[in-house]
Amino acid sequence: AEATLRQSQKMEAVGQLTGGLAHDFNNILAGVGGSLDIMARRLEQGRIAEIGRYITGASEAIKRAAAITQRMLAFSRRQTLDPTPTNVATLVEGMIELITRSVGPAVAVSTEMDERLWPTFVDVSQLENALLNLCINARDAMPEGGSLTISGENMHAHGAKASKLGLPEGDYVCLTVADTGTGMTPEVVARAFDPFFTTKPIGRGTGLGLSMVYGFAGQSGGNVEIETDLGAGTRITLYLPRFAGELETPRPESPGATVETR
Ligand code: ADP
Repeated sequence: AEATLRQSQKMEAVGQLTGGLAHDFNNILAGVGGSLDIMARRLEQGRIAEIGRYITGASEAIKRAAAITQRMLAFSRRQTLDPTPTNVATLVEGMIELITRSVGPAVAVSTEMDERLWPTFVDVSQLENALLNLCINARDAMPEGGSLTISGENMHAHGAKASKLGLPEGDYVCLTVADTGTGMTPEVVARAFDPFFTTKPIGRGTGLGLSMVYGFAGQSGGNVEIETDLGAGTRITLYLPRFAGELETPRPESPGATVETR
C-alpha cells in the first residue's frame, strides 16, 4: 500500500509538471499563431515594413519553446546519450573552477584522482551535469561550510561486490563526491532518487537532481550509490563503465596521429 501511495504521489507530481509545460506551450503557440495571423493581414494590406517585428517575436517564442523541450529532454530518462571515451580526471579538472565558484567560499574543494584512472565511455555533458548536481547538493548540505572532496578510482566489480552495487561484472571508474554536511535520514535515502522528491524549500529544490543522476548512471551501464552518516556527511559514488580501448593523447613527437578525446 505504501508503494502504491508513493507511486500515486509521483504520478501527481508528474501530472503537475506536464500540466505546467502544456500551459507554457499553449501560450507560446498562441503567440506564434497570433503573429502569423497579423503578418498575413499586413501582407494583404501591403504593409510589408511592419512584418519584421512579428517575425522577430515569433522566432523568439519558438526559441523559448525549444529551450523548454531541451529541459524536458534533460529530465527524460529516454534522452539519447552520446557516449564517447572520456578521461574523468581531465573532465573534473576542467570543471574545478566552475564547481569552486558554485559552492562558494565556505566550502573547501579538493580532488583525489587515481593517476592511472581508466577511461570511461559516457556522455560528457550529462556527466558534467551529474557532477555539478552532486556538488550543489553537497553545498546545500553544508550551510555553515565544510569540505567537498571529488575522488576517482578504478574498481573491478565481481561476485558479491558487483551484485551488492547492482552492477554487471566488469571494470568501473568510481567517481565520488563526498561532503561533511548534514547527512541523510534513512527515509530521505529511500526516496532520494525519486523524481520530485526534495526536502528543500519551494523554489530551492526541484527534486530532479538525483533522479537525473540515477537515470544517467543506469543508462550509461553503471549505477549510483549513496553512503551517508547523519550529522557527519554523505558520499555519493557514480560507477561508470570502463572504456575497453586506450585513450589516445597527443604526443609532442608525433603530432597529427591523435583521436579527439576529452
Ligand atoms: P534537490 O536537490 O532539488 O532537492 P535531488 O534529487 O538532487 O533534489 O535531492 C533530493 C534530496 O536528497 C534533497 O532534497 C536532499 O534532502 C537529499 N540530498 C541530496 N544530496 C544530499 C547530500 N549531499 N547531503 C544531504 N542530503 C542530500
